[in-house]
Amino acid sequence: MNVNQSVPPVPPFGQPQSIYPGYHQSSYGGQPGSTVPPPPYGAYNGPVPSYQQTSPQGMSRAPPSSGAPPASTAQAPCGQAAYGQFGQGDVQNGPSSTVQMQRLPGSQPFGSPVAPVVSQPAVLQSYGPPLASAQVTAQLAGMQISGAVAPAPPPSGLGYGPPTSLASASGSFPNSGLYGTYHQGQAPPLIQAQGHLGIQTPQRPAPPQASSFTPPASEGPRMPSMTGPLLPGQGFGGPPVSQPNHVSSPPPQALPPGTQMTGPPGQPPPMHFLQQPGHQLQQNGSFGPARGPQPNYGSPYPGASTFGSQPGPPQPLPPKRLDPDAIPSPQLNELPPQQKTRHRIDPDAIPSPIQVIEDDRNNRGTEPFVTGVRGQVPPLVTTNFLVKDQGNASPRYIRCTSYNIPCTSDMAKQAQVPLAAVIKPLARLPPEEASPYVVDHGESGPLRCNRCKAYMCPFMQFIEGGRRFQCCFCSCINDVPPQYFQHLDHTGKRVDAYDRPELSLGSYEFLATVDYCKNNKFPSPPAFIFMIDVSYNAIRTGLVRLLCEELKSLLDFLPREGGAEESAIRVGFVTYNKVLHFYNVKSSLAQPQMMVVSDVADMFVPLLDGFLVNVNESRAVITSLLDQIPEMFADTRETETVFAPVIQAGMEALKAAECAGKLFLFHTSLPIAEAPGKLKNRDDRKLINTDKEKILFQPQTGAYQNLAKECVAQGCCVDLFLFPNQYVDVATLSVVPQLTGGSVYKYSCFQVEHDQERFLSDLRRDVQKVVGFDAVMRVRTSTGIRAVDFFGAFYMSNTTDVELAGLDGDKTVTVEFKHDDRLNEESGALLQCALLYTSCAGQRRLRIHNLALNCCTQLADLYRNCETDTLINYMAKSAYRGVLNSPVKAVRDTLITQCAQILACYRKNCASPSSAGQLILPECMKLLPVYLNCVLKSDVLQPGAEVTTDDRAYVRQLVTSMDVAETNVFFYPRLLPLTKSPIESTAEPPAVRASEERLSNGDIYLLENGLNLFLWVGASVQQGVVQSLFSVSSFSLITSGLGVLPVLDNPLSKKVRGLIDSLRAQRSRYMKLIVVKQEDKLEMLFKHFLVEDKSLSGGASYVDFLCHMHKEIRQLLS
Ligand SMILES: [Zn+2]
Repeated sequence: MNVNQSVPPVPPFGQPQSIYPGYHQSSYGGQPGSTVPPPPYGAYNGPVPSYQQTSPQGMSRAPPSSGAPPASTAQAPCGQAAYGQFGQGDVQNGPSSTVQMQRLPGSQPFGSPVAPVVSQPAVLQSYGPPLASAQVTAQLAGMQISGAVAPAPPPSGLGYGPPTSLASASGSFPNSGLYGTYHQGQAPPLIQAQGHLGIQTPQRPAPPQASSFTPPASEGPRMPSMTGPLLPGQGFGGPPVSQPNHVSSPPPQALPPGTQMTGPPGQPPPMHFLQQPGHQLQQNGSFGPARGPQPNYGSPYPGASTFGSQPGPPQPLPPKRLDPDAIPSPQLNELPPQQKTRHRIDPDAIPSPIQVIEDDRNNRGTEPFVTGVRGQVPPLVTTNFLVKDQGNASPRYIRCTSYNIPCTSDMAKQAQVPLAAVIKPLARLPPEEASPYVVDHGESGPLRCNRCKAYMCPFMQFIEGGRRFQCCFCSCINDVPPQYFQHLDHTGKRVDAYDRPELSLGSYEFLATVDYCKNNKFPSPPAFIFMIDVSYNAIRTGLVRLLCEELKSLLDFLPREGGAEESAIRVGFVTYNKVLHFYNVKSSLAQPQMMVVSDVADMFVPLLDGFLVNVNESRAVITSLLDQIPEMFADTRETETVFAPVIQAGMEALKAAECAGKLFLFHTSLPIAEAPGKLKNRDDRKLINTDKEKILFQPQTGAYQNLAKECVAQGCCVDLFLFPNQYVDVATLSVVPQLTGGSVYKYSCFQVEHDQERFLSDLRRDVQKVVGFDAVMRVRTSTGIRAVDFFGAFYMSNTTDVELAGLDGDKTVTVEFKHDDRLNEESGALLQCALLYTSCAGQRRLRIHNLALNCCTQLADLYRNCETDTLINYMAKSAYRGVLNSPVKAVRDTLITQCAQILACYRKNCASPSSAGQLILPECMKLLPVYLNCVLKSDVLQPGAEVTTDDRAYVRQLVTSMDVAETNVFFYPRLLPLTKSPIESTAEPPAVRASEERLSNGDIYLLENGLNLFLWVGASVQQGVVQSLFSVSSFSLITSGLGVLPVLDNPLSKKVRGLIDSLRAQRSRYMKLIVVKQEDKLEMLFKHFLVEDKSLSGGASYVDFLCHMHKEIRQLLS
C-alpha cells in the first residue's frame, strides 16, 4: 500500500465542499472546499477505475406479469453438521459416532479443578506426544517446566509482604495459591535453571531508568492537574514511562533492584517436579520456573518432596530420553545427566488465562479507569470497570496492542509487535457512563486544522494569547476564528477548556453542517427494507410464518433517537424466490398491493409511492400484508432463488427514495436461478490443506463486490440471515454484508421448534440496535506514524477513508500503524478517529475519539505496556484475511514465527541473562502462546472433520468485526463449574481452564464462547442435582442435546437458568444451549472448545505448543 500521510495532507471527508457528487468521489472530502486552497490530492481521491455505476435507473417500466414458475426438484435435506447447528439440539446432525473421542484411561479421574494439581496420571495422557507434536515433546527430553512458583515464605528480615490486592485475590481464587506475586520495582530475575523449560514473566526487568520504579501517578491519589486536557509539550501528569501492566495497586513500597518479593507465608507451594537443588522460586513471575540462587534471598527451596501438602512421594521419573530430533542446544549438552530426563510439565506451572483474568479483576475492577494519563494500559476486557473520560477515549472505543510505541521503525521491526488499534466508534456504554456530548458550532461547523483537517481536540495547543493554535497532529499554526476565541490561563490552557467537550474530553460529537452531507443536502431519515425468501424451503420450515408474525410487533421497536416518540425510520417489504414481489403498503390502501418483477437481470423498483412507509401510518396495511404473506406462498413448489437481484432491488429502492438504510435479507439456499450473481455449488473439501484451499474463502464471482460498491455509494447496509440446509456459499453471499458494514447470521437446518428463540432474539436485537448510516471513518495520527491497514466490515475506495454503509455498536475497525518518521518520547503519539455518519433520525454527525500514547526508546517499555488480548484480536484478523491469498499452512507458520520473534526479542533485549533453556515471557504477554495456539487451531486455520466450508467462511467474516472482548472469549472459551460455589451465591462462579483435566465427573459446567453455549454434565453428578436441574431421576435419563432446561422451582435450577440468561445478555448474539452428557457422542462437539487440550483436528495442546514456541525462540536466539 502506498500511503504517505506526510506528503500532501489529505483532506478529510469533512472538508466542506460545494458539490457532493456521491461516493464516486472516493470520500466526503473529495472536493476541496471553497474557502481553503485545494490541497493536492494526488492518488487518494480519484474514483476507483473499476467502480462504475451500472445500475439501471428506470422507474417507468411496467411490472411484468406475475406468477411463479413451476417448482423444480426439492433440495436435499440437511445433512452436515454446522456451526449454527450446534444449536440444533439435533443429535443426528452431529458428528458420526465413529469419530467419537475415546477417553483415555489415564484421564478417567477428572481432576477436580480446585484440587491441588499434583501428580495425576491424567496429565501425561492428555498431552502425550502423538502425531504432530512428537518433535515438540521430544524436546521435553531435555527440559522441564519447573513447577509453579508458590509464594515463597518471606525471608526473615526483609519485612515486606505481598501487596494487599493480590493477597485478597489469593483468598478468593482456588488456584491463587499456586501463583506468586509480582511487583513493580523488582529486579530482573536471575535464572540459572539450565536446560529447564522454566517459564518466567519478569514483570519489571530492572529498567535503566530509575524513574520507572515510581508508582504511576494514576494509581495514586489523583491530582486535579491531571484531569484536564493534555497539551503537547506540556507533559503529562502520569508516570514518566513505565508502569506495571494490569496492576493497579502499587506495592506498599517500591523494591530496590535485586530484592526479592515473596508471597505470603504459610501458603504451601505446589507440587513441583524435579525441583533442582539450589533453585528458588521466582519472585516476580506469577507462575513458576525454578530460579537460581539469588544473592539476597536466603534459603532455597529444599527438594521437591517438601512441596505442597500432598502426601506421597514425588513421581518416579521416566527414563532418560534424549531425542535426536531435539534442537541442538549447547546448554542441553552441558546439562548434568539427571536433568536430561524427560519431565512432566505441570499444567499449573504454565501461565493461566483464568489467573490473569482473575488477578486483573481483583486489582483493577474496583476503581474507575480515568483516562487523563497518556499511555495508560486499561484493565482487561474481562474486567468490569467504569471509565471516566478525562481527555482520552475510553477503552470501550479504542484498545491498542501497545500503549507505548517504539520511537523508531527499527525498534518496531526488531520487536515485531504489531502496532494496532481496535476501534469501536459507536460502542454502547454501560448506563453509568454518559454518551458523548454533542457539540454544535452552528453554521461554522467544527473547528479543524487547516492543513491536516484534524478536529479540535484536547491536544491542540493554543498560543499567542489564544489567537492561534498549533495542530498536535501536523504542527500547522492555525488562526482561531473570532467566535471561538478565548483567553488562556497562566498554564497556557484556555479558561473555557472544561466547558467545552472538544477541549477536555477524549470522545465527543459535532453536529455536521450541510457541507458534510451528500449532494450538499441534509439527509432524509434512513429506511429498513425486509426482504423475505418465500421459496419452498423457507415456507416448509415455518420460517416465513414465524418471521411475519414477529415483524408485526417488532416494527414498534425500530431505533429512535433520544426521546423521540416514534422512529423516523420508514419500512418496506419485498418477498422473492426466482422473482421479486414488491408491496405497496400506503396507508390509504385497504389492502396491500403486490407487484412482481420477473426481469431479475435488469432490476428496477416498480413503485415509489407507498413502498417505504411510516409504520404507524400504515400499520393496518402492514399487518394485513404480514398476515397474508405466509398464506400466499403456502403451496409454493418453487425451490430456486435469486440473491444479487434482491440486494440490487433494495439498493435501488433506497436510491429512489434518496435515503440510506438497511436491508434485512432472510435467505435459505444457494442462488442457482438464472440471474446476475447466480452461483454454483463449488464446495470441495479436498482442497483443504492444499495450496488451493484459499479458493474456499474467496467469492466465486466478482459480481458481489461490484454490487457492494454500489450499495456503499448509496449508504445501503445489508444484514443477511441465512437458513441453509446445505452448502450456500457463505463466502460469496457474505461479500455484500461484509463490505457494507452489515452482519451475517446463520441458522443451519433451521427448525422453528428448536431455533426460533435464537433467531428471534438475534432479529430483535439486530432490528433495534442503533446504527450509523452512510458513514466514513478516518484515523489521523501525529507525525511519525500513520494508519496503513484496516480490518473489518467496510469498504475502502482509497487508502485512508473507511466507508461504512452502516455501522452499529458491535462492529469494530482494526487499524494497523507503521512508522514513517521518528517519534519522540516527550510528545508521544496521538490518534484521532473521526466518524461522519447519519443518525437513525437522519441527523448528520461527527463522532471524534482521541487517544494519546507514549513513545519509548527502550524495548522494555514497549513490552511492559502491551495488551495481549488486543494483539490476538489483531493477529487473528490479520491471519483470517491472509487465508484469502495464502495457503492456510503458510498463514499459520507466519503467526508462529511472528509470535516467536516477539518473544525472542524480549528475551534478547529485555530479560536478564539466563539459560537458553528457560522460556521467558514478558509479564503482559505471558498468555500470548496459549491464546495464539487457540487462534491456530480455530476452525478457519485448522478445521476439524465436522466443520463445513460454510462454517469456516462464516466464522472468518464474524471474527473480522469482533471487538477485543469477543475475540477473547471466542478463542478461549469460558468454562464455569456450577455446583462448586454456594447455591445462594448469585455471582458468576470463577472459571476454570478450558481443559478436560479440569472437568470433574461429579460436577456440571457451562461453557460459552460468545456463539455457543454448552451445559456439560458429569457422569457421577449427584442424583439430587440431576433431579433439580432436569427433573429426571438419573443421569441416564437426561436427554443428550437438550436445548432448554425445564423451569423448575428450586434454587439450583433458578441459579443455573439465571446464569445462562446472564451469559446470553453479555453477548451480541444469542447462544443456544446444548446439554452434553459425559461420554455421550455429542461430547466431541464440546471437547472442541477445550482449547488447552490437543484437538482432534491435530491442534496442539497448550503445553505442547508452549514447548514448540520455546523451540522456535531458541532457534531465533541461537
Ligand atoms: Zn494539522
